[in-house]
Amino acid sequence: MEQSLAGVFIVQDGVVKYHNSAYARILGYAPGELLGVDPVPLVIEEHRPLVEERIRKRLAGEETSAEYEIQMMRKDGLIVDVLVQGSSLEYEGRMALCGNILDITKRKRAEAALRHSEERFRNILEQAPVAIGIGRQGKFIYTNPAFVKLFGWDSVDELIGQPTSILVAPEYLEEFSERSRLRDVGAEVERDYEVVALRKDGSRLSLRGAVSLMELPDGPAAFGVYEDVTLRKEAEAAMMLHHEQLEELVQQRTAELIDARNQSEAANKAKSVFLANMSHELRTPLNAVLGFSNLMRNDAFTSEDQRKTLNIIVRSGEHLLNLINDVLDVARIESGKIVLEPTAFDMADMMQGVIDMMRIRTEEKGLQLKFDQASDVPRFVRADAGKIRQVLINLINNATKYTDRGSVSIRLSGEAVKASPQKRMLLVEVEDTGHGIDPADQQSIFEPFVQVGALALRSGSGLGLTISRQYLQLMGGSIELESTVGVGSCFRAYFPVEVVRNVDVARVKEPRGRVIGIEERRESRGSAYGHPEYRILIVEDTPENSLLLRKMLEEVGFAVHEAPNGVAGIEAFQEWRPDFIWMDRFMPEMDGLEAARRIRQLPGGADVKIVGLSASALGDQRDETLAAGMDDFVSKPYRPNEIFDCLERHLGVRYIVQETAPAVAETPLQPIPVDAMEMLPDDLRDELAAVILRLEADKIADVIQRIADVDEALGAILSAYARRLTYTPILRVLQGRSRAV
Ligand code: ADP
Repeated sequence: MEQSLAGVFIVQDGVVKYHNSAYARILGYAPGELLGVDPVPLVIEEHRPLVEERIRKRLAGEETSAEYEIQMMRKDGLIVDVLVQGSSLEYEGRMALCGNILDITKRKRAEAALRHSEERFRNILEQAPVAIGIGRQGKFIYTNPAFVKLFGWDSVDELIGQPTSILVAPEYLEEFSERSRLRDVGAEVERDYEVVALRKDGSRLSLRGAVSLMELPDGPAAFGVYEDVTLRKEAEAAMMLHHEQLEELVQQRTAELIDARNQSEAANKAKSVFLANMSHELRTPLNAVLGFSNLMRNDAFTSEDQRKTLNIIVRSGEHLLNLINDVLDVARIESGKIVLEPTAFDMADMMQGVIDMMRIRTEEKGLQLKFDQASDVPRFVRADAGKIRQVLINLINNATKYTDRGSVSIRLSGEAVKASPQKRMLLVEVEDTGHGIDPADQQSIFEPFVQVGALALRSGSGLGLTISRQYLQLMGGSIELESTVGVGSCFRAYFPVEVVRNVDVARVKEPRGRVIGIEERRESRGSAYGHPEYRILIVEDTPENSLLLRKMLEEVGFAVHEAPNGVAGIEAFQEWRPDFIWMDRFMPEMDGLEAARRIRQLPGGADVKIVGLSASALGDQRDETLAAGMDDFVSKPYRPNEIFDCLERHLGVRYIVQETAPAVAETPLQPIPVDAMEMLPDDLRDELAAVILRLEADKIADVIQRIADVDEALGAILSAYARRLTYTPILRVLQGRSRAV
């Protein structure tokens, strides 16, 4: 007994009568120390009633033995868990309680710890926001509340024992059971997968799950953690849909844009075609008007009066042509059809030409025209001479138009362009002492069709400045304006040029006099076809234009044949064998391009010179004609010399020329003496004003003659104005609007 681990005791009369050493040791006492001690107080207070109850029952004989766990207090105050097995016996002839105690503190602690950790674990499971389910052999043995909630069941109990497959969407069942099978045989299963599951009510939800095998005390089980990804899935799907919709929208918009672009391209094309047609429609009759007037002006049988009338027709026609050209220029700028055509040219020469031309107009208005050029301006340059000329004419023309007295000053200067030694930025300043431009209008006058100031002053199209600015910008230049109302305006045009050497500049041909005949054809350069004369075929559908050209050519001695369209032109070429063909571009039946192409294919067709003619200002007429195999291109309306020059270039024709005096009298006009005019009899002044307003040239000459009878000097001055058809200054003086300068 002394060796026993169990503490043995005998209690009689409420005190320990015997205990072994194990008993004392368990309770922390020395052997024998507890003899005579009441053991009940050693039990913790809480357990005492239980012990007392046992004792009572035993003593009363109601039970003979009992086993129970209690806690007792050791001598050192520590609590020990003890398992008590109690019974009763006869001790020293009397009834006594006996039993033994086992120290079960360690076991109890382990149990408590286990219980504690299990509790914690369970707590974690219960509290976890994710759904956790544990299954064994295809049935649920545990689920947490989140799981129940996720799947829409009412309670945990309801789910326990249910087959796990009950929550799987039908289309996933096969995959699900395959997974379970693989897991059960210990194969590696993808731990993170997505599955569609069913709620209790049959609705579907997307889950992301991880399932692993877990050893539980009662055997292995499948431990699954699930996360609801329905929202994410839906968001993904929505994003996808959104993305697709966006893509669709982008595609739709792109298609719309392409559509719009096509439409605008089509509209642009239509506009170009319209403009080409319009320019053709307008220029074709103008060609006839200007051409015939010119012819008649030069006719020996034309009277002086008729000549004056013809001059007016020519001027009006040219004015109209300028307007048409302005409108077309703007249209071409707008449709991006304008390109730079730089050539090498003599800047000083061009400037002088423009100023000479403009001098006539300034003189008409009694204005002074001043020109000043800085010494550093290069003489020979490369740039788009045609456009620069047009800008200069526009600016000087405006300055003249909007100035009543004083002067128009033109200054040309240049400065080096950094980093480009061959370049210069030229500056042309056109300054006038005219009406000036209100600051509010200084921007808008560069817009198309904008005209400002008094209505009475408005003439022209309102396009000049628009075109000028566009041209300058295209060249890489700019335009500036400084103006004060009532004082005057100064337009500054900047444009870059490249400095070139003299030799690079093509010799500009001296303008020749009027062609009145051709030299006989030299034998060495005789016709390829053996006929002695120059044979010119005109292929042209507009009878007036054909007739005009024919008259012009026949008059100087060319042999001419006409054909009204391409087909007839080819026939005439084969039968008549011309040296040169004027080929109109647009014709019914067969146009000029096609006819030229076909003629080139025919025997001898490679030798004949073919030059295109067109009134259309649009498109790449020149390129088009050259591509069709023609040698050159002349646009309508043409001046006679352009036609003769072209024939000279291609056939080597030599002309007999009448050197004519310049169209305008060489002496500059003298200012009209206002005093002398005022001295004239009133009826003479009134009559002069009346005939000028009616533009009756012969009557004007008449009245001036009668004035000369009164005042010879005044008569001479006035007739000089009349000869140049410059009536406005006379009218001004008559109406008292101008003083002599
Ligand atoms: P247009 O002269 O044909 O009317 P522009 O485009 O050349 O057209 O000029 C637009 C407007 O700008 C003119 O109508 C005129 O009112 C104003 N303007 C242009 N140049 C001058 C100038 N030198 N002085 C005063 N006004 C001017």
